[in-house]
Amino acid sequence: AAVEEASPEIIFRSKLPDIAITNTLPLHRYCFERLPEVADRPCLIDGATGTVRTYAEVDRLTRRLAAALRREPLGLRRGAVVMNLMLNSAEFVLSFFAASRVGAAVTTANPMSTPHEIANQIAASGATVVFTESMAVDKLPASAKDGGALTVVLIDARRDGCLHFWDDVMASVPDEEVAAGDEDSASGDGEFDPDDVVALPYSSGTTGLPKGVMLTHRSLSTSVAQQVDGDNPNIGFHSGDVILCSLPMFHIYSLNTIMMCGLRVGAAIVVMRRFALTAMMKLVERHRITIAPLVPPIVVDVAKSGEAAAHDLSSVRMVLSGAAPMGKDIEDAFMAKLPGAVLGQGYGMTEAGPVLSMCLAFAKEPFKVKSGACGTVVRNAELKIIDPNTGKSLGRNQPGEICIRGQQIMKGYLNNPEATKNTIDADGWLHTGDVGFVDDDDEIFIVDRLKEIIKYRGFQVAPAELEALLITHPSIADAAVVGKQVEPEIGEIPVAFVAKAQGSELSDDDVKQFVAKEVIYYKKVREVIFIDKIPKAPSGKILRKELRKQLQEQQQA
Ligand code: ATP
Ligand code: MG
Repeated sequence: AAVEEASPEIIFRSKLPDIAITNTLPLHRYCFERLPEVADRPCLIDGATGTVRTYAEVDRLTRRLAAALRREPLGLRRGAVVMNLMLNSAEFVLSFFAASRVGAAVTTANPMSTPHEIANQIAASGATVVFTESMAVDKLPASAKDGGALTVVLIDARRDGCLHFWDDVMASVPDEEVAAGDEDSASGDGEFDPDDVVALPYSSGTTGLPKGVMLTHRSLSTSVAQQVDGDNPNIGFHSGDVILCSLPMFHIYSLNTIMMCGLRVGAAIVVMRRFALTAMMKLVERHRITIAPLVPPIVVDVAKSGEAAAHDLSSVRMVLSGAAPMGKDIEDAFMAKLPGAVLGQGYGMTEAGPVLSMCLAFAKEPFKVKSGACGTVVRNAELKIIDPNTGKSLGRNQPGEICIRGQQIMKGYLNNPEATKNTIDADGWLHTGDVGFVDDDDEIFIVDRLKEIIKYRGFQVAPAELEALLITHPSIADAAVVGKQVEPEIGEIPVAFVAKAQGSELSDDDVKQFVAKEVIYYKKVREVIFIDKIPKAPSGKILRKELRKQLQEQQQA
């Protein structure tokens, strides 16, 4: 029989050349590599109090905390797991890098999680120490995995049974030991492997049960390098920048693209405990913030609010959006409010380290980009689009499943080889479950998640496209679209959940007609449900699970 020649794969790459990446250092060393140059520059600025900590101070504090983590009663060693269960704070950054110094991994969680969710993550990750704050401490289980003691470090209050971050933990270390905390190894016992896990975020659980994502020193330093290293970095951050950190550090977008990239370049990072629109604008004015990483719901807020005009936001030169889809119209409306800034998107997925693609208009020597695109694949990585049914790679402008390969991707899911195998194939390609295409200029457009695509009479309808359209309506504050199972000949119909703008008298027919005018017949919204607020994750993602539940309840009623 004739030997069939394997057809070559179609692989997309960055327009930026590959660079030499140092990814064998412990992550804290990599992020603080420029310490000698930036020692006296501001590193962390507390948004609420204005307190400034310099790079030298932050470095010294992480060394002190690392020394405390090694001592009893904490006694952490290489391979240990620490949980960060808090909103944004300097302490979050300190415990993250102190853990890196001792060779431990940090699993991050939203302090708004339920006791059940927190207990699950502690058990699954094997965390033995939790850094947390008053708002969440009562939700912690009594013991760690296997019934061992769970040590709780509280950053903002004193309480029986808990250690106080500053008074008990930091104060316990004699000064000589702080200086000694500078030895080269991450573990303190001389052993370090760049493939050790340093961050263990849990995928957010939008589509399924959350799984522990193992990100190593190598993967995270590669990802940071892909964004901000090189003569022409993909994101042109520099040490004179003041970066807003209003997104939760327990999410990898903030932890990586704001925190790690910000530290790597020696920029000042303004830490907001949590996002609030007016407070954010005031901080921009006060600190002359130059970089604003946001998520789509915040971009929509700014675009739709009159407040932008009341503040001097002229210092902002770059606005990044990511983590969830953002349509062209919202981008354009936002740009009208901040004409002096470059707005662009990055596309990330926790498992991918997380950044797959980044807007090239952010590069030090920028490229022209299109509104609505979510960047070009990062450098030192490969991207392909495959036909989800055949696995064959597709050419430009053909939508299919996005796959990524490179040293930045996760090592795997914790204790879940089966799930790992289903996500990273034998050739090292990580399958994202997202549908998108690469256009003639190497720009990536996300269509939607494979699992979210609605099948109406065999036609594909992407909820993200309808949502982007719906929120351009002046009487619609926010919207989400999900599929509703109907008779088998039809399959699913698109149902729109709509949150009306204040005082609007919009009817469901208005909504249907508005959409019908703009889309081909099979994409029409067939049903409209008004609700007060679209349920969303902190990353800005629509919690469709909750909307589907509402649909089901409604059908049963
Ligand atoms: P789970 O995997 O547990 O269901 P999740 O996928 O929501 O949770 P994340 O890793 O936070 O958890 O999200 C990654 C997903 O976010 C991507 O797979 C993609 O669907 C979406 N996403 C990220 N950035 C963008 C973007 N710029 N445009 C559109 N979608 C995006
Ligand atoms: Mg996911």
